[in-house]
Amino acid sequence: MIVSGYRFDIDKANQKLEQMGAQKVMLQLPDGLRRKSNVFIENLNIDVELWGGSCYGACDLPGSIGDADALIHVGHSKICGFKPEYPVIYLEGKSTVDFEVPESFVEKFIGKRVALYSTVQYIDQRDKLAEVLSEKKVDTVIGEGDRRITYPGQVLGCNYSAGVDADEHIYVGTGNFHPIGLALSIGKTVHILNPVTEFWGTTDSMVDKLLRRRFASIVISEEHDSFAILISKKIGQDRRELAEHLKSKYKNCIIIHMDEITPERVDSLGFESMVNTACPRLTLDDSIRFKTVMLTPQEFLITKKELSWENWEMDEIK
Ligand code: SF4
Repeated sequence: MIVSGYRFDIDKANQKLEQMGAQKVMLQLPDGLRRKSNVFIENLNIDVELWGGSCYGACDLPGSIGDADALIHVGHSKICGFKPEYPVIYLEGKSTVDFEVPESFVEKFIGKRVALYSTVQYIDQRDKLAEVLSEKKVDTVIGEGDRRITYPGQVLGCNYSAGVDADEHIYVGTGNFHPIGLALSIGKTVHILNPVTEFWGTTDSMVDKLLRRRFASIVISEEHDSFAILISKKIGQDRRELAEHLKSKYKNCIIIHMDEITPERVDSLGFESMVNTACPRLTLDDSIRFKTVMLTPQEFLITKKELSWENWEMDEIK
């Protein structure tokens, strides 16, 4: 089944539901597909209820699915390391976009060892690039990564464990945050190949811009007295142990639990700085939307002079 340019293996989902003997299923869709819920509902063979809450990633599963027998989580691949209290079927979305790999792009990598990465949605396009590179005798490598990812070479906004040693690194996909995060995690330039726009370039200037913003946030927070430490109630973003460790070191901080973390809710709490142990993208990609200064846990330690700026690292959930 193809919806909005993404292929979904709905037959497999129906087979799994049948094997479970499920009578009713809860359907969870990311923002970009919510308006297409009717297509999914029409193609599922059993009674469907729709989850109306958020769906930022596979980390963000509902706390409860009522009397449904299973959840169908659409768009993302499974994240291991946490176990919801109900069965989950992950209905991954794979982009159907076809693209020509630019020859001038490929020529840059001849004679080098090249690592390839993508999000789950663009794995097929990454494999196409791998084929083209191999025809040109370019040596390619794909890192295994840790248990938070499902596929070798897959990156999440919070996990770049697929980073591997190579001469050059190529990210195939849309959006800039994943290749920037990867570049910061491995400490190397990442080449971006966007199969939708056929744009190609590197992360260098974007990484500089992000690091300048992070440095400014740390400098501002050094003047602040009131810090809160944020813990997410979303099952796959919960870094409670890290939050409690920070709190044990700095007793005048308060821990705050939140489900939906929005600028309005964070800013209304009145803290000058917030240490975010929830999704790292809130700090590194979205911080401009918050009046409260958002810090990663490691940036908090830099603010407290426990680490130096040279120790700055990408905040990841492993
Ligand atoms: S924690 Fe953030 S980056 Fe990681 S999977 Fe969830 S939404 Fe995506």
